[in-house]
Amino acid sequence: MAFLPCQVDPDLRSLATSVVDCREGPDGWWVVLDRSPFHPGGGGQPPDRGWIDGQPVREVRLGEDGMPVHRLDHPVAGTVRAEVDWEWRTDVSQQHSAQHLITATALSLLGWNTVAFHLGPDRSDVELEPRDLPPEDLRRLWQEVNARIREARPVRILQAASREEMTALQVRSRRLPRGLEGPIRLVEIEGVDRNTCGGTHVRNTAEIQGIHFLGTERIARGTRLFFLAGGRLFREIDRALDRDRRLTALLTCGREEHEEAIKRLREQQDALERDFRETRRRLAAAVAQELVASGEGPACRCILGDGMEFLREVVEAARRVREDRPVALVGAGGTLLVAGPDPVARRWFQEIQRQTGLRGGGRQGFYQGRGDPDRSPAEWQRLLEASFPESSS
Ligand SMILES: [Zn+2]
Repeated sequence: MAFLPCQVDPDLRSLATSVVDCREGPDGWWVVLDRSPFHPGGGGQPPDRGWIDGQPVREVRLGEDGMPVHRLDHPVAGTVRAEVDWEWRTDVSQQHSAQHLITATALSLLGWNTVAFHLGPDRSDVELEPRDLPPEDLRRLWQEVNARIREARPVRILQAASREEMTALQVRSRRLPRGLEGPIRLVEIEGVDRNTCGGTHVRNTAEIQGIHFLGTERIARGTRLFFLAGGRLFREIDRALDRDRRLTALLTCGREEHEEAIKRLREQQDALERDFRETRRRLAAAVAQELVASGEGPACRCILGDGMEFLREVVEAARRVREDRPVALVGAGGTLLVAGPDPVARRWFQEIQRQTGLRGGGRQGFYQGRGDPDRSPAEWQRLLEASFPESSS
């Protein structure tokens, strides 16, 4: 198997080359170059980004003949300059090398096997076999990986001429494409790991700069461990500090006191809510008393400005005072509540429905719906009074 230029020379950023093939597809032009500096992705790594003669490369894939194919918006011909987006490549290489280091260290330090790797746009993850990753073990892993990063261990691209040679070299992964022939590409982190890999990598571990774990997620075949490496770590710190500054302005206290300030705010909110509920309960009792304590027959009231919860409380309080009196209430937004002994309550509600076309329903002496929110309180009052079924009173 022939290696791609980027698999041989990790510093290859751009080159002048010639267009071998350029054909139109449904979503652009697919271009094959004589030599391409682009990595087509694979093994958890996304494809490179970059430009061909200044045009952004929309997509890179590996063609059937093992050559990268590039998708452009416009056709190209002759000699062109192909340039890799180096910021993107550096980020991808940092995450990929970090993964090799995490995988190798998790195995040697804790005996945890890696079964998969995903390099995401915001965070990456390794899928580890254990169902449980104790926090103290994760902390040891994090420390050890960062220690190996500080040691600036060289990362080298090696070749094994055959599977036999690979076995002799004590290579970690032996999962290779079936039918693979010829030299096998290996990535070595000096003194730590040798692994079959076709991806791009940093030249020594110090270029990873550092790693941090973001959390774990249980999955069917083990646990996903999310991580950040390299520039992503600093961008995350930047975002966190920025959040701190905004919180400092909002909470008007230093970052050390944010947690305390939020706890206090929540306690205050809980106390206010308790007060509010108690006040509303008392108000509902007073409204109910006034509504049903004296007189006979149906009691109805339009209480605009209050939600369904308040209406329910009034109805419940009214029932405690006079269970036998049917009650109809209208609240904010045309919310309607009819309660009382059936079948009177039900017939009252049905008559209001018939006259207004409002939607709703209920059962066992409790009916609710929503009517025209623009109807005035006086109109509602007239409607509720007029719709009470006379024959049953
Ligand atoms: Zn790899």
